[in-house]
Amino acid sequence: MSQPELYDVTIIGAGPVGLYTAFYSGLRAMKTKLIDAEPAVGGKVRYFYPEKIIRDIGGSPEIKGHELIANLKKQAETFQPTIVCNEKIVHLEQLPGGNFILESESGTQHFSKTVIIACGSGTYEVNPLEAENTANFPSQLHYSLTDLEAFRDKKIVISGGGNAALDAALTLLPVAKSVQVIYRGDDLKGHEETVRELKRSNATIHVAHNIERLSGEADKLRQVMIRCKETGRTQTVPCDAIFVGHGVKVELGAMRNWGFDTEEWGITVDSLMQTSIPGIFACGDVACYPRKIRIILAGLHEGPIAVNSAVKFLEPQAADEAMVSTHHESFE
Ligand SMILES: Cc1cc2nc3c(=O)[nH]c(=O)nc-3n(C[C@H](O)[C@H](O)[C@H](O)COP(=O)(O)OP(=O)(O)OC[C@H]3O[C@@H](n4cnc5c(N)ncnc54)[C@H](O)[C@@H]3O)c2cc1C
Repeated sequence: MSQPELYDVTIIGAGPVGLYTAFYSGLRAMKTKLIDAEPAVGGKVRYFYPEKIIRDIGGSPEIKGHELIANLKKQAETFQPTIVCNEKIVHLEQLPGGNFILESESGTQHFSKTVIIACGSGTYEVNPLEAENTANFPSQLHYSLTDLEAFRDKKIVISGGGNAALDAALTLLPVAKSVQVIYRGDDLKGHEETVRELKRSNATIHVAHNIERLSGEADKLRQVMIRCKETGRTQTVPCDAIFVGHGVKVELGAMRNWGFDTEEWGITVDSLMQTSIPGIFACGDVACYPRKIRIILAGLHEGPIAVNSAVKFLEPQAADEAMVSTHHESFE
């Protein structure tokens, strides 16, 4: 059997950061492969908030999550990298001679001279809603917002009080008939401005409450029973659909055993995005250094640094960085 192709760089993770990193890698004429465990590219943006309006990308005052990902994907494709989805990388090893072998859960092997890890917080699994009768209403329990129209004129209950829940509440308010937020904690704990915006809105907020039971007719959800943690009193809230924003279990998984230094939130890098293993770099949410900001824009800066480091690793005499794209031969 013939050996799979050898790439200059393989990027693990096709979230927003992996996608932009693939574009920049093309600018540097690196033969690039981009691999993701999910069925489609886009990372957390695709998975958790494709309909949310993102406001902290410089130069794009407002852009919906799915639009940003479509743009990044188009940009990533400029230099035709190989993009592989549905491949969770579980093993990475350096071969005698220096190249790396990456193996996916299904046993597929990928060969690369360098590796950039842009795997966010690792693979994720949502924390479920634990209440009576959830199994009876699977189609009315939502863990991500993929189609806003499905919520139009509906009575929505949001379970949770962190950013994912509050973002969903704000996104749904303009289309839903009503939005009620049920949170077990004593005060909402999202970003300050998000909490302020929600408190100013028409949403009804029940803190120190749990959703205890779902009920309806056949498989049609009609209401949820909530209980106050302090008084024990229950009340019924009308409900057509529930968005569950209980956060996710994120796990770097096998990556912790790949030999580089890791921290609680990811992989330790220096200012050149180098991990403790020469030839392996990291960027985006997974890359850890002091005062790291976990937003998309930060990763869009780190990706090119990681690529430049990979280029210099392969060819120490190479230029430190790419020409700006307007001066790049591909755009002339
Ligand atoms: C609810 C919520 C709202 C947010 N809102 C904003 C916002 O408004 N503005 C903003 O700038 N940021 C926001 N963020 C943060 C932002 O989403 C992250 O900073 C960004 O997604 C990081 O991009 P990334 O590409 O590094 O990682 P991710 O988006 O996490 O993508 C990583 C990719 O790597 C893949 N992967 C992981 N492990 C493997 C493996 N072993 N093999 C193969 N593939 C793997 C995953 O499947 C995933 O697709 C928000 C985050 C959340 C959770």
